[in-house]
Amino acid sequence: MEENKKLVTILVPAYNEQDVLNMLYDRLKNIMDNLTNYDFEVLLVNDGSKDDTLKIMKNLRAVDSRICYLNLSRNYGKETAMIAGLDYAKGDCVIIIDADLQDPPELIPDMLKFWEEGYDDVYAKRKSRKGESVLKKFTSKMYYKVLQSVTNIEIQKDTGDFRLLDRRCVEALKSIRESQRYTKGLFSWIGYNKKEILFDRDPRAAGNTKWNYGKLINLSIDGLTSFTTAPLRLSAFIGILVSLAGFIYMLAIIFKTIFNGIDVPGYSSTMVVILFLGGIQLIFLGVIGEYLGRTFNESKGRPIYFVDRYNDEKETNEKLNK
Ligand code: UDP
Ligand code: MG
Repeated sequence: MEENKKLVTILVPAYNEQDVLNMLYDRLKNIMDNLTNYDFEVLLVNDGSKDDTLKIMKNLRAVDSRICYLNLSRNYGKETAMIAGLDYAKGDCVIIIDADLQDPPELIPDMLKFWEEGYDDVYAKRKSRKGESVLKKFTSKMYYKVLQSVTNIEIQKDTGDFRLLDRRCVEALKSIRESQRYTKGLFSWIGYNKKEILFDRDPRAAGNTKWNYGKLINLSIDGLTSFTTAPLRLSAFIGILVSLAGFIYMLAIIFKTIFNGIDVPGYSSTMVVILFLGGIQLIFLGVIGEYLGRTFNESKGRPIYFVDRYNDEKETNEKLNK
């Protein structure tokens, strides 16, 4: 065996994925066994699953020493599971892949090839999205459009978290300790040499998607508010427009009163103006509140996650308190 083989970490966040983990392992094993030039570490992150995911992870580790697992203290969501995994990954590069086999592991050799050519971030862009509803495709397309147009950084379209990251990208991501993470934006934000490869996204192998519209909407708002303050500016602009209109209306009323005298009826116009202004004020209070909330959350400075176990050792989280 030659020395100095590079270590590749395959990072898999998993939440209630008991139905797919074994299938995933078989596919990964195939790939790893064929790539003899590298050492592999498969880091399975159990994000507080309520099914037998952890048990399966332990079993897999028992049969293959390349498997490591990280058991988080509860369910934190994929974004946090990913940063936890990055913190524990030992590889010279890290490949993030979904547990549900929607990201074909067969792309890994290509990713490694581009990595060897000097790219730091090789991301897989999907040509198609099988098994996703028209509505989901449409909303995600619109969302990317909006996000793109209000942020200065380029957000890759149709790209998930399936990608290879060089160690220096990993270190960059680790240095960003925001608690409401929007990793998709962070990948772009850190920069470095990027390379895209195209693939067909498969439907989920088994189990159910963990995303519902509620979670997706939250993620979208996190995405917007963590990368741009444009909504705040928009509220200022709209405020100016509305008060300008209000001013003109005021002049009109004054002149009307001077020349035509006071006319008392006017209930409907008064109501319309009050309701309209009230609505706009509430909306923008909400926008301000959204940013205030983020500031509040970040200012608490809590650790982003707690770990229950790394492999067979109990974590005391001592490191986190230093
Ligand atoms: N996931 C996670 N924590 C969560 C939700 C999801 O670690 O709270 C993982 C999940 O196990 C999967 C990946 O994130 O490996 C993507 O989730 P899913 O397939 O449900 O999302 P979709 O592919 O539908 O966008
Ligand atoms: Mg999926």
